[in-house]
This record gives sequence, structure tokens and C-alpha cells, in this order.
Amino acid sequence: MIAHLKLDDRLSVLRSQDRLRNWRSLNDERLCIICKRKFNGRQIEIRRLRNHKYELHCPTEGCNSSPHLWIYPATPLVSYALELDWWRLAGQKHRTSGSEPGAGGQRV
Ligand SMILES: [Zn+2]
Repeated sequence: MIAHLKLDDRLSVLRSQDRLRNWRSLNDERLCIICKRKFNGRQIEIRRLRNHKYELHCPTEGCNSSPHLWIYPATPLVSYALELDWWRLAGQKHRTSGSEPGAGGQRV
């Protein structure tokens, strides 16, 4: 279900759902790294979930990506590759700390 929100509400939903980046206004633009399209805050698809939560989705038909895959259009390609790496690492099940021998022991 697509939520219809007042513009003020829309901005606060964007801010609460996209904690990685700053939304100053609905005219702020993002570039989706999946479909490579640029859009602004007004175009983002906001879906209302049952538990009074909202979900943000890329406005491009068939794309459906979420805010962590949206970058500032001015972000250079290098840091965008780093960001992708970061998300891949963050998505892994096991953290590799490497600095703790004797895994399973308790910290004193
Ligand atoms: Zn997209």
C-alpha cells in the first residue's frame, strides 16, 4: 500500500527511515546505485506497513531498492564502491575480528 502523506510528513518519514544520510528538504536528490537513476524526496515511494512503520522504495518501476542503496548524486564513484563493500561486509553472518584468539572464552 502506498501512503499518501502531506509534504511535511513525507520529509519526516524520509528522515526517520534514511538514517545514513541527511535530508534537508524534499528537493534533496539521491542516486540509486541499482537502477542508476536520480530522484528527489518527493518522488520516493513511501509504503505504510501495518505496524505504523514506513518503508522507502526507489520510485523506478521494477527497482524497489531501499535507502541504503541511494547515494548523494555528488558522491564520487570511488566512495560508492567502498560503500557497497561496506554493506556486503555488514551483511555477512559472522564478524571476522581476528584479534581474539581462543574464541569462546570469556572476556575478563
Ligand atoms: Zn532504483
